[in-house]
Amino acid sequence: MSIEKNQVVIVDYKLQNGSKEGDLIEETFGSKPLSFIFGIGQMIPAFEANLEDKTEGDEFGFLIEAAHAYGLHEPQAVVDIPLQQFAVDGKVDAASVIPGRQLSVKDPQGRTYHGVVQKSDDKQVTVDFNHPMAGTDLYFSGVVRTVRDATASELDHGHAHE
Ligand SMILES: [Zn+2]
Repeated sequence: MSIEKNQVVIVDYKLQNGSKEGDLIEETFGSKPLSFIFGIGQMIPAFEANLEDKTEGDEFGFLIEAAHAYGLHEPQAVVDIPLQQFAVDGKVDAASVIPGRQLSVKDPQGRTYHGVVQKSDDKQVTVDFNHPMAGTDLYFSGVVRTVRDATASELDHGHAHE
């Protein structure tokens, strides 16, 4: 059976930064393989396009440029926020604004944005609201373990039951 829409696909993969020589970002080998329903928007479209028509046992290796993955790193999504906005009862907890700290901020419309502190000083905190993998070219390699039709309840739920 070859991969097409509405099939459950189970793959083991390795994700590396930029190329097959790049730093390892994550991998499923040795843990739980990835399972998803093909063609319903669960995965990055370019990821699915590279797997279409493959069958069980097929190996793959392909690069997805950042623009077709999690997007480019947008400088305007790196924002300086006055330190005082982080105050609770008039005091800023220094640990809450150290570089690398993850935080979420609500805008006046109630939408939540997730960011990471890049740097901070006694006046402001620079927060990067880009997706953590923005600007990263993704190199995937691995093997197709299983291809099967999704069950009615899997299609109904929009995810694989494994
Ligand atoms: Zn379910």
